[in-house]
Amino acid sequence: MIKPRQKRCKFCREKFTTFNTLAQACSIPCAIGLAKKKAAKDQKEAFKANDVKTLRRKAQELFNKYIRLRDAEDGCISCRKPKDWDGQWHAGHYMTVGANPELRFNEDNCHKQCSVCNNYLSGNLGRYRKRLEKKIGLDRLEALEVKGKPIRLRADDYHQVIATYKSKIKQLVK
Ligand SMILES: [Zn+2]
Ligand SMILES: [Zn+2]
Repeated sequence: MIKPRQKRCKFCREKFTTFNTLAQACSIPCAIGLAKKKAAKDQKEAFKANDVKTLRRKAQELFNKYIRLRDAEDGCISCRKPKDWDGQWHAGHYMTVGANPELRFNEDNCHKQCSVCNNYLSGNLGRYRKRLEKKIGLDRLEALEVKGKPIRLRADDYHQVIATYKSKIKQLVK
């Protein structure tokens, strides 16, 4: 036999008696109020998540642009295509961002790369490594290969990356 129990309404905070163990509100108006509140909260969270995605995209665009400018005089880090090759140039990560999110905005880990190596040869990593060792030295190369602590960047971090690379790009372009 089910006994009625005392609960506190999640909307108006008053105590109420119910047979329904799942009930969260004391009345229909309170249940509607609660549902509206939850919808508003969900929407706000979705907006926030979306905002972080947008910031991350913007931060990555600026970082990549900086890398291509920094390496303007270089050819492809992997296949040595010359700088006057008229295909598309990318900023290619050595250690993948998916597996190493902490290296997403690490300048040692990202270099100008031709779209062929970046898109079709998975970064052409064997050759990337050889050239990278020449460019930054074995110590810095191996530091990238050590598994770092995973980090989770927040909106504030992306704002900081955006500001940093806007200013670095400005310095290179002028
Ligand atoms: Zn209530
Ligand atoms: Zn290449």
